Amino acid sequence: MKAQSANTTTDDFIRQIIAEDVKTNKNEGQVVTRFPPEPNGYLHIGHAKSICLNFGIAAEHEGRQCYLRFDDTNPSKEELEYVESIKTDVHWLGYDWTDRLRHSSDYFDQLYDYAIALIKMNKAYVCSLTSEQIKDSRGTLREPGKNSPYRERSISENLDLFERMKAGEFADGEHVLRAKIDMASPNINMRDPIIYRIKKMPHQMTGDKWCIYPMYDFTHCLSDAIEGITHSLCTLEFEDHRPLYDWILDTLNTPSHPQQIEFARLSLNYTVLSKRKLQELVENNLVSGWDDPRMPTLSGMRRRGYTPSAIRDFCDRIGVTRKNTQIEMGALENCIRKDLEAKTVRVMAVLKPLRVVIENYPEDQVEQLDAPNHPDDANMGTHQVPFSRVLYIEQEDFLEAPPKKFFRLAPGREVRLRYAYFITCQAVIKDEKGDIVELRCTYDPETRGGSAPDGRKVKGTLHWVSESHAIKAEIRLYDRLFNHPNPGADGTDFKAALNPNSMEVLTDSLVEASLANAQAGDRYQFERKGYFCVDSVSTDTLVFNRIVTLRDSWAKIEKANKRA
Ligand code: ATP
Ligand code: MG
Repeated sequence: MKAQSANTTTDDFIRQIIAEDVKTNKNEGQVVTRFPPEPNGYLHIGHAKSICLNFGIAAEHEGRQCYLRFDDTNPSKEELEYVESIKTDVHWLGYDWTDRLRHSSDYFDQLYDYAIALIKMNKAYVCSLTSEQIKDSRGTLREPGKNSPYRERSISENLDLFERMKAGEFADGEHVLRAKIDMASPNINMRDPIIYRIKKMPHQMTGDKWCIYPMYDFTHCLSDAIEGITHSLCTLEFEDHRPLYDWILDTLNTPSHPQQIEFARLSLNYTVLSKRKLQELVENNLVSGWDDPRMPTLSGMRRRGYTPSAIRDFCDRIGVTRKNTQIEMGALENCIRKDLEAKTVRVMAVLKPLRVVIENYPEDQVEQLDAPNHPDDANMGTHQVPFSRVLYIEQEDFLEAPPKKFFRLAPGREVRLRYAYFITCQAVIKDEKGDIVELRCTYDPETRGGSAPDGRKVKGTLHWVSESHAIKAEIRLYDRLFNHPNPGADGTDFKAALNPNSMEVLTDSLVEASLANAQAGDRYQFERKGYFCVDSVSTDTLVFNRIVTLRDSWAKIEKANKRA
């Protein structure tokens, strides 16, 4: 496995249970886990929590046994595109299932045999109520359900009908196979749950071999048992399904009986973590696709420039508990900042350029100035930035009438150009509309490298690029996809909480010459501007995605919201 080493910072309750099981030699001391996605969408950051947990725990034990199992029991919603994207995402996160790639559909024959076995034990029956009638007779939390009139069908009649269901003699919905458990059980999942249904639809793995498909609850526990999973880790909403999980495995003669353990699913503010909702955004063209860099999908985060190590670090920090809490988006953003801070080269890019002419700088002179790749890590080396008479600075770094505490450029004021010289603004050139088009400045040749021999100080340091050397680039400034911390939580459509300013596209940006050979996926810190990544969908111009700003600008907004 390529993944990083064992989780050493926290021992969550699941790891504690597993450690105890290993100590008492339960399952001969083996630990086998699985990650069981349904291939009906792309993986999101919530899935990363489950992947890191399952593959992470496996990596901490001998054999490193974690299965990637596609839970493909519903042919109507599942597609190969999703299967491929899931594999890519798991690998990208740094995990490897080696030869443990499975599909629930691999077990359709065995599952069918298990169903026959249940019928023969008089523990399952073919029910011919409509789905509506089945729902109506299930009862409520307070009232018991009613027995189906078909509940006492004979074993031979059930065997005959089930075989004919399989042979395609009936239409969708005409019959189902139900486990015979207890219609009065306080747990509704135990009230004769449906375990097989007719669905005359080809399956991406099994073609038209089957027209009956097993239900999730029946499939999942048996797939776990067939694979010899020791600890079946799932999210809390499956807690009420555990009695059924155990009933099926206790009733049937299976090779093993895995232990289901539930944990809280990840929920993050300012986004939605549900494949169904994410699909809705894609289908309504509210985003450019599953890999839109604003999406909380792993493919979106990858394209945006998130690193797998930052995501693993995030999953490690949030830990695993049984308490549903909402994690702040800022926590995820801090993990990516922290990771990139140490790794990325600092370069200069001017997002919204303002032309600056250094009047006393020789017309055809060019100097190569040394810029450290990282201010705190000399091992990362240096690169050169060309300086010349015509430069660009950021529009927002100049104000004609600066308020107090604005320390950047203003008429008559001196500031430092990063790695270069002190310059002083001498004149402001405007067009006929009165918009500023150019600044006329002078430089002090004595300040090369950014300090004055006479010891005079300047308060502002600006980034810049040289006009004749800079490279044109498109820069996409991404922000949170939703501007409400809980999209849709107040009963409104979650799509109403979409942030209209979640993407700003700048087409006139300029980046320094050293980025001429930047490749898709390369990440940089643009000084004073944030972390950026070359977009993977190539165009003729360089396109950069903003991964994250340097500081959390939402923290202030949130504080203000809380006060209000
Ligand atoms: P969604 O609601 O987004 O469709 P799901 O649970 O239906 O999610 P699956 O493909 O069934 O998606 O999930 C595969 C595994 O990932 C399951 O074990 C599931 O419990 C886990 N998982 C899904 N979402 C989260 C989450 N937000 N936090 C932690 N684990 C999750
Ligand atoms: Mg699901």
